[in-house]
Order: sequence, then structure tokens, then C-alpha cells
Amino acid sequence: MKIGFIGLGHMGGPMAKNLVAAGHELKVFDLVPSAVQSLVEAGASAVSTASDAAVDVEVLISMLPASQHVEGLYLGESGLLGSINQQTLVIDSSTIAPESARKVATAAIEKGITMIDAPVSGGTAGAAAGTLTFIVGGDNKALERARPVLENMGKNIFHAGDSGAGQVAKICNNMMLAVLMAGSAEAIQLGVANGLDAKVLSDIMQKSSGRNWALELYNPYPGVMESVPASNDYQGGFGVDLMAKDLGLAMEAALQTRSSTPMGTLARSLYAMHSAKGNGSLDFSSIQKLFSDL
Ligand code: NAD
Repeated sequence: MKIGFIGLGHMGGPMAKNLVAAGHELKVFDLVPSAVQSLVEAGASAVSTASDAAVDVEVLISMLPASQHVEGLYLGESGLLGSINQQTLVIDSSTIAPESARKVATAAIEKGITMIDAPVSGGTAGAAAGTLTFIVGGDNKALERARPVLENMGKNIFHAGDSGAGQVAKICNNMMLAVLMAGSAEAIQLGVANGLDAKVLSDIMQKSSGRNWALELYNPYPGVMESVPASNDYQGGFGVDLMAKDLGLAMEAALQTRSSTPMGTLARSLYAMHSAKGNGSLDFSSIQKLFSDL
């Protein structure tokens, strides 16, 4: 297929590479030249504007940081929805506010363009391995059109509901992840402060009732696991500021529905505090530094 891909960061870069490896013809765009260069080396064609990536393609995928970037890309006088062909299927995989996803999808539908929200879970390792979970909001027919392309980047594809529903599910998942990561970091530090080795304690908890994804696959304590950001000075991975953004989206959703989210609210404050100390661009597992003298 001819595919346009916009946003080649920690996630978009490896996702786009998997599409090239699957034999698709990719036109790619990012504001950062080195991100584009890495895709060109993998076999994609570079274009110089987002509009160039969006014309003459069967599928257009965007993977941008936040709501304002996605609205800025698609809406307004110079927005892509003004020029995208009606035959092009648009897939936005960024994690953004559900209202934003609905707003952009509604504007697309008004122009006769089909669009789905398809945020992902699985982290940078899942993006590189092509094992992401896609959480789709939009109509079923659109999802079925998208499925073969999504299957080249992920192994689990869920239909959460109508436009925006993918984002709601993703926000709930990430609120839970933040709570688990902060809780795991707190527990490991308690053990270390009381004389335990962080790896020994992590091994014990992984086989006990405290077991969770953060401990098992993304341990926040340096040296416990190889190939995770904690063992690489918290570089790469999923940024603290992106997690803080997702927790903010969870708080907005909670306010709108008068939902009670005490654990998520505390996690948001911890991540905001951690970011304010200058850690915004580190991986989110660096929340360990809030508890430990690393
Ligand atoms: P990132 O900051 O590494 O990458 C975003 C990319 O978008 C950057 O390369 C940036 O230059 C580019 N960009 C921004 N505005 C642009 C524009 N107008 N046109 C073209 N390119 C533009 O972020 P990421 O970690 O890849 O995350 C992307 C999205 O995926 C976020 O919404 C994030 O919350 C979500 N997410 C991230 C992870 C993770 O582990 N990193 C996991 C799941 C979901």
C-alpha cells in the first residue's frame, strides 16, 4: 500500500520501519530531520511537508505528542483535512483528549474522509517488535479497512467503540500504569532502604501478589533489567512529560464525569513534581528518582 506517516519519534519511527519492512511504500515527514533520515535509511521516501505525505496515499498515519499537535495538523485553513483525498483512510495513533479525537474525526467525516483514533500500548519495545496493542475508536468498517496495516505494527487490535473511545480506554490504561510504576518504585526503594537488593526484591515481587507490568517488563530501578530505560540513564522510552500529559487527560475525563480518581490524582501530582525538577524528558520509570537517591 501507499502510506503517508507523520511523526517519527520514539514510537512513530519504529512503527513506520515495520511498515516498510512489511513491503509498504512509505512517504514520511517529521519536524526533526534526523528522525526522517533514519526512515530514509530503512527504505522510506522523505517529503518536505506534512501535506506532501498526505497526498496520493491510501492510508495516512499520524503519531504526534498531544491534542494540540493533532488538531494543528488536521484542522484549520491550512489543515490536512482540506486537501486529503476522500479515498484515503486516516489513522491517528497519538494519545490525545477524547474530545479532540471526536472533533477531528467529525471534521473529517464532514469532508467525506474516514478517520479512526488508534492509540497504542506496548511502549517503544512493542513498537520496535511490531507487537503493539491498538485501541481503536471509530466505525467498524473503518477498523476493518485499517486492520491489515495495524497488523503490520501490532498483535492485538481492540475496538473500544465510536470515535474517541480508543482514547478513553488508552487514558484509563495509562492512569493505571502511572499508579503501578510509582507504586513499584516506592516499594523497591522501601526494600533497598531496609537492606534488600533491588533485583532480589523485584524477582520476589514478580512471583508474588505485587506482580505487575512495570516490575516485570519495565523495572524502574537501574541495573535490575537489561535493555530498559532505567539501565540506560532513563533515556528513550516514554517521556515523563508525555505521562504527565496523559494523567492530565485522565483528570479532565474524571472532572467531566464526576469520577473519583484518588490514585490517579496522586500519580499526576508525583509526575508533575518530577517534571518540575527538570526530569520531563527522561523516561517515565525515572519516577524512581523521586524516592531514591540515584
Ligand atoms: P516523541 O516526542 O518521541 O515523538 C513525536 C514526534 O512528532 C517527534 O519526532 C516530533 O518532531 C514530531 N512532531 C511533532 N509535531 C509535528 C508536526 N506538526 N509534524 C510532524 N511531526 C511532528 O513522542 P512518542 O514517544 O513517539 O509518542 C507519540 C505519541 O504516542 C504520544 O501521544 C504518546 O503519548 C504516545 N505513546 C507513547 C509511548 C511511548 O512509550 N513512548 C507509548 C504509547 C503511546
